[in-house]
Amino acid sequence: MHLQPRILVSGGAGFIGSHLCERLLAEGANVLCVDNFFTGSRKNVEHLLDQKSFEVSRHDVTFPLYVEVDQIYNLACPASPVHYQHDPVQTTKTSVHGAINMLGLAKRLRARILQASTSEVYGDPSVHPQTEDYWGNVNPIGPRSCYDEGKRCAETLFFDYWRQHRVRIRVARIFNTYGPRMHPNDGRVVSNFVVQALLARDITVYGDGEQTRSFCYVDDMVDALVKLMAAPDTVTGPINLGNPEQYSMLQLASQVIELTGSRSRIVHRPKPQDDPRQRCPDVAQAKSALGWQPTTALTEGLKRTIAYFERLLSDQNLRKQLAEAQ
Ligand code: NAD
Ligand code: UDP
Repeated sequence: MHLQPRILVSGGAGFIGSHLCERLLAEGANVLCVDNFFTGSRKNVEHLLDQKSFEVSRHDVTFPLYVEVDQIYNLACPASPVHYQHDPVQTTKTSVHGAINMLGLAKRLRARILQASTSEVYGDPSVHPQTEDYWGNVNPIGPRSCYDEGKRCAETLFFDYWRQHRVRIRVARIFNTYGPRMHPNDGRVVSNFVVQALLARDITVYGDGEQTRSFCYVDDMVDALVKLMAAPDTVTGPINLGNPEQYSMLQLASQVIELTGSRSRIVHRPKPQDDPRQRCPDVAQAKSALGWQPTTALTEGLKRTIAYFERLLSDQNLRKQLAEAQ
C-alpha cells in the first residue's frame, strides 16, 4: 500500500522536468525520473539525489518501460529547434513511440497521464490569440515538422487511448517557457539572449525581430502542470498553458540588455524556415478549469534567469567554451 503517489516524470532531467521533480518531491510524492540525457543532464537533478523518495534512471522512452506508478508526466522530447532538428527521425520517434509506450504503461496501471504538448501544434497560426479549438497551420514536410507533427500525432494517440481504452489523459499545450536550468547552449531565444548579453556578445535577432512569442516563467508552468494532473478526469484538455503577454523578439532583446546592463549590440541573422510570426495563448480554459493564471512578470522572471546564468558563467571553463561556441 503506497500512501504517497508514485510519479513518473519522463524527461525529468530536462529544464521543465527538473523543476517539476523538485516540486513533486516537495509535495511528498515518490518521484521516478527517466531520461536519456540527450538535452537534459544529471546536474539538473543532482541536488535531489539525496532524497530517498527520488530515483533517476537512464532510459529512452522509444523503448517500453516496466515500472509501477500512479501518475505519469510525459515530458521526454527535445524542445529547442536546434536540438530537435539535430536528429529529426529520433525526434519523431520520441514523440510517437514515446507516447505509445507511456500510454501503454498508463493503460496497464490505470494511471493518470499528462502529455507535454506544445503551441507548435498551431504551427504558424492564422488565429490570434490561439484557442484550443483552432486546428493549426503546420507544414508537414519542413524542418520543424519532426517536432510539430510528432507532437500532433502524440495528441492523436492520447485522445484515441482515451476514447478507446478510457485512459485518464491530460494534454497540456505548453507555450514558450523559460527560467533557470535552460541549457546555456540550447539555442532558444531567452537563453541565447541572456548568455550573449552576459558575455557582451552580439545579440542575434533572427529576421526583422517583429515576430512575437509569449514567455511563461517555469514556476508558473510547473504550477499549471500540477493543477492539471490534479483536476478531475473530465479535464482532458487540450488546454493552453502559457503567459498571454506578447513580446516581439526586438522587445525581448532590449529588455535583456537593460536588465543585464550589457554593452551588447543587436544584430540581425536570417529568419529560420517556418518560424511562426505570432504566438500568444488564449488561457481562458486554464483559468476556468484549473483556476490558474501566470503571476510572474517577464521582468521578474528574466531577473531570476539572468541571476542563474550569472552563477553558471562564473565557471571560467564554461564561459570560455560558450564564448568560443557563440
Ligand atoms: P528539455 O530539452 O530541457 O527537456 C527534455 C528532456 O527530455 C531532456 O532531459 C532530454 O534529455 C529528455 N529526452 C529527450 N528525448 C528523450 C528520449 N527519447 N527518452 C528519454 N528522455 C528523452 O526541454 P524542456 O523545455 O524541459 O521541455 C520539456 C517538455 O515540454 C518537452 O516535451 C517539450 O516538447 C515541452 N514543451 C516545452 C516548451 C518550452 O518552452 N520549454 C514549450 C512547449 C512544449
Ligand atoms: N530567435 C532569435 N534569436 C535567437 C534565437 C531565437 O531571434 O538567437 C527567435 C526565433 O527565430 C523565434 C523566437 O526567437 O522567432 C523564439 O525562438 P525559440 O527557438 O526560443 O522558440 P520557438 O518558439 O521558435 O520554438
